[in-house]
Amino acid sequence: MTDPATATTSRIAAFLGHNEAFARDHTPLPLAPPTARLIVLTCLDHRVDPAAFLGLRPGDAPVLRNAGGRVTPSVVDDLAYLAFLARRVFGLSGPLFEVAVIHHTQCGTGFLADDAFRREAAAATGLSEPTLAATEVADPFATVRTDVDRLLHAPLLPREISASGHVYDLATGRVTTVVDARHP
Ligand SMILES: [Zn+2]
Repeated sequence: MTDPATATTSRIAAFLGHNEAFARDHTPLPLAPPTARLIVLTCLDHRVDPAAFLGLRPGDAPVLRNAGGRVTPSVVDDLAYLAFLARRVFGLSGPLFEVAVIHHTQCGTGFLADDAFRREAAAATGLSEPTLAATEVADPFATVRTDVDRLLHAPLLPREISASGHVYDLATGRVTTVVDARHP
């Protein structure tokens, strides 16, 4: 019997074949600020692909992803560093980026809105209930508003960054803007 922990067949092997083809036609991009001056924050859900539903191309926009696409301290840290890099290395000044927070329907973090489920998840994973509650997206139209506010009030967020809020509907493929771009 094969022990899954020591199995030698890698699940990425099939995809590395695609990469061979990709690398043959590859044109490298220089290190430069994102051409769209946009940063996307969204969920790690494997059905959610901002390159596909927004038509983003390499070089257009950094994409930050976590469970729910929530604004966490680590997201704010990344944004602060990206802003520093844009100014220090690329000499940008004035408005730097718009951060588009995009939550989605049918999010797997939605189960965490249920108290019993959240308690069970905390016990099983060792994560704290407040940590789990902070990733919950049961009503994406409400959580994008919360997170745009959270971003605009984050002390580390540079004032040259604006934020907007959107919901991606997995059933229709459509993105709806809930909060227009605003500055801190
Ligand atoms: Zn999700």
